[in-house]
Amino acid sequence: WSHAYAARAQQRPTPPPGADAADAVMINANEHPLGPSVGARQAITDIAAKGGRYLGGLQNELVEVYAAQLGVRVDHLMGYAGSTEPLDYTMLAFTSPTASLVTADPTFESGWRAATRNGATVHKLPLRADHSHDVEAMCAKDPKAGVIYICNPNNPTGSVTLRRDLEYALANKPKGGVLVVDEAYIHFSESAVSAIDMVAAGEDVVVLRTFSKLYGMAGIRLGFAVARPELLERLKFYSVNSLPVTAAAAGLASLRDTELVPKRRRETARIRTDVMGWLAAKGYSCTASESNCFMVDVKRPASGFIADMAAQRVFVGRAWPIWPNASRITIGTAEEMERFKAAFERVEASATATATAQAVPEQAGPWQRFFEVA
Ligand code: PMP
Repeated sequence: WSHAYAARAQQRPTPPPGADAADAVMINANEHPLGPSVGARQAITDIAAKGGRYLGGLQNELVEVYAAQLGVRVDHLMGYAGSTEPLDYTMLAFTSPTASLVTADPTFESGWRAATRNGATVHKLPLRADHSHDVEAMCAKDPKAGVIYICNPNNPTGSVTLRRDLEYALANKPKGGVLVVDEAYIHFSESAVSAIDMVAAGEDVVVLRTFSKLYGMAGIRLGFAVARPELLERLKFYSVNSLPVTAAAAGLASLRDTELVPKRRRETARIRTDVMGWLAAKGYSCTASESNCFMVDVKRPASGFIADMAAQRVFVGRAWPIWPNASRITIGTAEEMERFKAAFERVEASATATATAQAVPEQAGPWQRFFEVA
């Protein structure tokens, strides 16, 4: 317990040295390079003077507008300062020492930590060869599972789990458990189908949404749990809190901008296709991503690659223990990805020279044979 507590004593990990340099390229945390939309920024400015009040009316307006867009009733939505909170609360509510968490690996691990703190067993099942969730294996793993967690598109791979697999998971999950679908990145994908309609149909499904990704509000903080009221009650046990008025105002402005999602989705896809094509041409395999991040197999321990890139002030994402030779790359601006390419070229040229001189055997990720650029 004390170890878990100590690990959380800091709000966020300390940024690596050099990350605050003016020309640092921060493509390590799946943030949006452009930040909040112009309309959202204006809304934040306009609301600032009223920041001494809770502004319940504004918060309700946000929930009403979002509920209408999602096609659920307002009592099916609960707002938070980001989606980490409802993700963790969902784990606390539906796992226990006798109700496990079943998750893919690699995936976003915040829920693993919450479930572990709750005394639950965490069953980690590898993604399929195409990096979708192996729903058959996940549903078969533990008849007493409390949560089946599916991140769609998945962090860190950007891979999509098809609707028929979500339906399989819903039909075959343990009867007492809930299906948690984390849709943090769904706005980036053309093909991913949301599970919100399962919520509207009254199923045992919790959908998580955040404004930290495509909407560029990671620092402003807004996220939602979407579930039927009986399930939301279980999350509310842990806390019900007011939203920051800046987040509510910026969220509303973002939702009302009908161009924002398609425009940013197109731009991210364009840059992603370009950089993944560049890597493929150089012989580096990437996961087939429909999101703002992908994994690249750097053919050596990713820890060295990450450090070498940081020395060029290009801060790339981490590796997952199951794939030690892959680093997660977030899509930045086109200009930032040019910096990424230039640094990659320099860093890998010298790494290859060193490796050849020292004859270090190459370690191939088990997945790398499957992916070229989509
Ligand atoms: N879910 C997934 C899949 C994520 O990748 C993240 C952030 N990395 C979150 C939830 C939580 O983000 P936030 O609390 O900023 O909404």
